[in-house]
Amino acid sequence: MKAILYTPIAQLVQMRIEASSRYKIENTKVMTIQLYDTYSRQKREFHPADKTRVTMYLCGPTVYSYAHIGNARPAVVYDVLYRLLRAEYGKDHVVYARNITDVDDKINAAAKAEGVTIDVITDKFTRIYREDTAALNVLKPDFEPTATGHMKEMIALVQRLIEAGNAYEAEGHVLFDVTSFDSYGALSRRRLKDMIAGARVEVAAYKRNPADFVLWKPADDNDPGWKSPWGRGRPGWHLECSAMIEAVLGTRIDIHAGGQDLIFPHHENERAQSMCSHDGKRLANYWLHNGFLDMDSEKMSKSLGNVKLIHELLKDWHGEVLRFALLSAHYRAPLDWTGSLLEQAKTTLDRYYGTLRRLGDVKAAKVPAPASFMAALHDDLNTPQALAKLSTLSTLANKAEKESEKAQLKGEMLAAGALLGLFEVEPEVWFKSDKGLGDKDLDAEAIDKLVAARVQARKDKDWGEADRIRDVLSEMNIVIEDKDGHSIWRRN
Ligand code: AMP
Ligand code: ZN
Repeated sequence: MKAILYTPIAQLVQMRIEASSRYKIENTKVMTIQLYDTYSRQKREFHPADKTRVTMYLCGPTVYSYAHIGNARPAVVYDVLYRLLRAEYGKDHVVYARNITDVDDKINAAAKAEGVTIDVITDKFTRIYREDTAALNVLKPDFEPTATGHMKEMIALVQRLIEAGNAYEAEGHVLFDVTSFDSYGALSRRRLKDMIAGARVEVAAYKRNPADFVLWKPADDNDPGWKSPWGRGRPGWHLECSAMIEAVLGTRIDIHAGGQDLIFPHHENERAQSMCSHDGKRLANYWLHNGFLDMDSEKMSKSLGNVKLIHELLKDWHGEVLRFALLSAHYRAPLDWTGSLLEQAKTTLDRYYGTLRRLGDVKAAKVPAPASFMAALHDDLNTPQALAKLSTLSTLANKAEKESEKAQLKGEMLAAGALLGLFEVEPEVWFKSDKGLGDKDLDAEAIDKLVAARVQARKDKDWGEADRIRDVLSEMNIVIEDKDGHSIWRRN
């Protein structure tokens, strides 16, 4: 009886709280971002070392082939973090680096198979990676360092590690001595004893200890190599990231991110190299790792042959549908990639774009995203919850009658969308898209409306808006001709 009486009241109170926080102007920030840090295995409040220069690094792709949608997961989820940090600390106060691994055995193999030099392969797949991620609305990072562009820094880092007694040369190789670093294994919570016994480390005669890992190794005559004090050779993969982080961000960064598969050995080794070359100073204050994108409950990976390439998916689906699907699960949880996931993402986005199209004539209020939405993102990037809030906004916007309410809700939807990297196309273009989205044919009435809005903008001498509308129309293959004060349009 009690429950029956009290539940509606509790709901009412909750609704009141939601409603009041939604309209609250959020210039007084009370929320602090919480991030789950792999090193301490807990959610911690995020406080950057320097609020005017928040630094973040993500291990980027190895560019030897097309990236799959599993590779897109880190690019997209940490893009949301980048957007959130920029909103919180200011655009110019966040520095994000995502590297390009352009030295790797797989690249050598791909170049050999095609009979070309490695730069032909790496240039091609770097370009494709950039195009693919741009189609998913991933912002360009501030730095995109390459391994080949940082050979000098890598060699210098190896030299420092040798001088400090953390590395040694053996048969043209330089190896990191894991016993020289007390905290080796602390990130992945592995004990050295177990690692030595484990099968994951490569045993070689020249290693002092089977768990020692390669910093530099000799290059075969037919393979690309760089001159070094230890002969012609090439860097180990882990070394590449340590050197690039130092070169573009500095000796200590706020956030280091990557997929869960990188915790060991890649990040453990990066941490060992960087800390030993910087007097034991911590490399990253927060270590973030995303869960796997799976196919039939197995990690999507090239070696298992169960991949869906971004490049291919983009032929059938709009980039925002893929992005929405990637954000539908919490970034640390596994995400099963299925056809119905994509269908659902598309249907939901169609609904939101439908709302925005209905509010086409409403001038969006310049407001921040609602507090409840922000709270979800602040809570270790809870994107599923943030998307649920977006759904509520869309429903409210559909029901709104007062102009002021429509303007407010439209503004809130756009602000929330901007943080998630959604609604980057005009609703008219969305529904015009040939990617199986919504109604295929944009009717003449909608075009007339846009043309009229452009005429009005020109009358108001709002040239920026007039140009924007012209661009929207030209994306839709509509050409406008201005004659004697009139604008007429035709399909191109
Ligand atoms: P790779 O090119 O394999 O080094 O991967 C590039 C990035 O994608 C790394 O951060 C990986 O952890 C991540 N990654 C690779 N496969 C998956 C997957 N199936 N799910 C989520 N992340 C992945
Ligand atoms: Zn890395």
